Amino acid sequence: MYDVIILGSGPAGLSAAVYAQRARLNTLVIEEKPLSGGQILDTYEVDNYPGLPGISGFELGQKFREHADRLGTEFVNEQVQEIKDQKDMKLVVTEKKTYETRTLILATGARHRKLSVPGEDKYIGKGVSYCATCDGAFFRDKTVAVAGGGDVALEDALFLARGSEKVYLIHRRDEFRGARILQERVRETENIELILSSEVREIRGEEQVSSVLLHNKKEDTEHELEVQGIFIAVGISPNTTALDNVIEQDEQGYIVAGEDTRTSIPGIFAAGDVRTKQLRQVITAAADGANAVTSVERYLSGN
Ligand code: NAP
Repeated sequence: MYDVIILGSGPAGLSAAVYAQRARLNTLVIEEKPLSGGQILDTYEVDNYPGLPGISGFELGQKFREHADRLGTEFVNEQVQEIKDQKDMKLVVTEKKTYETRTLILATGARHRKLSVPGEDKYIGKGVSYCATCDGAFFRDKTVAVAGGGDVALEDALFLARGSEKVYLIHRRDEFRGARILQERVRETENIELILSSEVREIRGEEQVSSVLLHNKKEDTEHELEVQGIFIAVGISPNTTALDNVIEQDEQGYIVAGEDTRTSIPGIFAAGDVRTKQLRQVITAAADGANAVTSVERYLSGN
């Protein structure tokens, strides 16, 4: 039986792994994807992690993994199907086997949300993308749109502007949610054009995307904008499938937990983007991993 099983290998899970190994806990990390690092793997540049300005998301993810490896962390690559709480023992059922553990840290992160408009599903991989760093190169010298107004949309627009001919940044309000420094950079970039107070109503095309239908909310007018691709960056949803209806979640599905990462189930802790919190960034995810292991140690010693 493990002392702790960590689900997920983004910044929260890997930081928990580092702290758990240093606490000499018998630890297993279960990751569902072939590469550790979580959402930052898709981030071109992380410019707000202290001490490592401008590091690529991929490199930062790999550094976290190398740190956990150096301390001898055990990893398996499996899909979690079910979690069973048997008080002093938790069972984690994957497609391969059932693992027993005394505690569990949920660091399963979040995934991108959809726009849910006609054409979106039809053109995934044919002009609709959720990852600018993965797919941006296919749109070199082309005209693309980015939908959203948070950090990811602003970062995606800046990234795409380096290779694409023109980038339309479409946001449903006239104020952005993302960091001011990113807003300034976007406004200073010549080939980014802002389309504000506008929503994408439909994604159109033949074989590939050729246009998007926009609705201007202030004027209540519609117009068609020719683009060869659209990058959708309208937020994230927590990855909680194995625990839905078992653990307390808020109305958006985030697992209810404070800074000590304790959830509604004793012995189960939630760290990183998957829990209720004010700020979802690499640094707060990494901090959660450390706090989660401290809470695990207290729980195991009966406090
Ligand atoms: P986000 O901050 O939640 O922003 C989502 C954006 O999409 C908002 O501007 C929202 O509009 C818009 N939106 C939501 N649903 C929409 C819909 N149906 N139609 C049109 N627009 C819609 O999400 P995010 O940018 O993906 O970032 C996720 C988290 O990661 C955030 O906590 C963010 O701070 C963090 N992050 C941080 C960094 C960094 O520190 N450099 C980088 C990346 C991500 P409204 O503004 O009108 O609500």
